[in-house]
Amino acid sequence: LCSLSIAAAQARREIRVAGLPEYRTLKCDFHMHTVFSDGLVWPSARVDEAWQDGLDAIAITDHIEERPHKDIISGSQNRPYEIAAGRAKDFGVLLVRGAEVTRETPPGHHNAIFLKDVDPLDTKDFFEVFRRANEQQAFVFWNHPRWPGPERGRWDEAQTKLYEKKWLHGIEICNHEEYFPEAHQWAVAKNLTIVGDTDMHEPMPTGTWTPEEHRTLTFVYAKDKTLESLHEALLAGRTVVWYRNQLFGKEQFLSAVFKRNVEVRRAYRRSNDVIVLEIHNDSDMSIVLEKAGNVGLDTVTLPPHTASRHKFPIPADGPRELLYRVANFLTAPKKPLDVKLTIPQ
Ligand SMILES: [Zn+2]
Ligand SMILES: [Zn+2]
Repeated sequence: LCSLSIAAAQARREIRVAGLPEYRTLKCDFHMHTVFSDGLVWPSARVDEAWQDGLDAIAITDHIEERPHKDIISGSQNRPYEIAAGRAKDFGVLLVRGAEVTRETPPGHHNAIFLKDVDPLDTKDFFEVFRRANEQQAFVFWNHPRWPGPERGRWDEAQTKLYEKKWLHGIEICNHEEYFPEAHQWAVAKNLTIVGDTDMHEPMPTGTWTPEEHRTLTFVYAKDKTLESLHEALLAGRTVVWYRNQLFGKEQFLSAVFKRNVEVRRAYRRSNDVIVLEIHNDSDMSIVLEKAGNVGLDTVTLPPHTASRHKFPIPADGPRELLYRVANFLTAPKKPLDVKLTIPQ
């Protein structure tokens, strides 16, 4: 007798939050660890997780300066990338070579990604690290800017120096289950590219996603799915961060995202002064609208992947456009996106 066991096929979840029409939406996580620093998984496993979570690109960013298993796992700082590269190619996941530059706060932790060689960054002088990273055309961002330390949650003179030298291009405004409004504000004021990452050390949690519970990630609007286009889009700042049923990003991006995912498709009058709207939400998010004008319901909730009907009083000669704010689309801290809902004729 022989017994045959068939392993369950791996399945990929598809993330559906349509992005800018003229670009490809790449779903990305640029911050995670492996056994090469203080993470618990082998580098290739990060590729499997990314594929299963519907991602298009990841960066493995082990701490350069913190390698607790150095006695058994040694060698070049490029090893995590090299080990995972083949599997990333097989799975069609873009793998970005990166590392986390790890210093006490201030100045804190920074990621350098799109490196060509990580090893030269293993040097003592903080500014020399970023001079070398930028020599390699890296994309550099400040990680979890609220990391504990005496200067917690403060923009430090080290960041000013990096910023003025154009060696700092982005900032993590969300890290796993945390959002940093002050970092978001700095990004808006200084036009830094915003990113949201998991910074995962453990194996990535499996299980069902809900609008509130999903992997924190960055949508990057790139010309196509290549490392070159991804790099260009990050330097150009074309990102939106998805975090706990909220989107953070520039007004023009969020406005386009809203238009691509939400549509009033039908309207009919129940009577002379009552109308019913059928509103479609094609995204994975539960979208919450709050009234900003004089007409309409105070709050309209659009569950993911549904058409929902909303009835409210409006005079026959009332406005054709309703003014709303999207409570969970933020262009800056506490600044929801303004939208207009057009009532179809
Ligand atoms: Zn860190
Ligand atoms: Zn980290």
